[in-house]
Amino acid sequence: MRVVVDLNRCQGYAQCCYTAPDAFAIRGHEILFYDPAPPAERRGAIERAVQACPVRAISLQAGPDDGDLP
Ligand code: SF4
Repeated sequence: MRVVVDLNRCQGYAQCCYTAPDAFAIRGHEILFYDPAPPAERRGAIERAVQACPVRAISLQAGPDDGDLP
């Protein structure tokens, strides 16, 4: 699983940080930090963060742990 955030779309609302605090954090002046390759056990929380983002800035992509890449 890979997490991609469109930082041009992100408005720093921090809903993802409340929903998946192990994967997303706002630091400083609304600068979003996130784990682009989180462990599979965080998928549920991250999927909720995808739904919680009011501007739909977060997307999930398949990653090596999904068995689709060598
Ligand atoms: S919820 Fe969406 S807009 Fe808000 S900080 Fe997270 S990615 Fe950005």
